[in-house]
Amino acid sequence: MTRRITQSDLQAYLDEALAPAEMAAIEVEIRSRPDLLKQLAAINGRRDAGVHSVGEIWRRNRLSCPSREQLGSHLLGALDAEHAAYVDFHLTVVSCRFCQANLEDLRRQQDEQAETAQSRRRKYFQSTAGHLRKK
Ligand SMILES: [Zn+2]
Repeated sequence: MTRRITQSDLQAYLDEALAPAEMAAIEVEIRSRPDLLKQLAAINGRRDAGVHSVGEIWRRNRLSCPSREQLGSHLLGALDAEHAAYVDFHLTVVSCRFCQANLEDLRRQQDEQAETAQSRRRKYFQSTAGHLRKK
């Protein structure tokens, strides 16, 4: 039985917006038909080229968490608006526990680093002051 698969079927498949049985049926078709795979790759390529909304980014990256580097940059406010929105969405709306824990860990590390830098500065000033007094 061959099922006619349209562009919008493929779109929905990429969005994982179909019922599990439909998803499975289309997946079987895609695996056995290189032309469908090509179409799918083309749709995916177009999406990669023009990703605009946070929702779109989310749908495409649903299964992947931001990297630790991205989370770190997010803490420092170093991500561009689009990425920052995605990470925010992932943390607050999706409430990914893994990333929340990761972020918490990074925040603690940054606090510790800031403290170490501060006490180093303090020591430096104290020794400099002591040195100046001796003169
Ligand atoms: Zn996550």
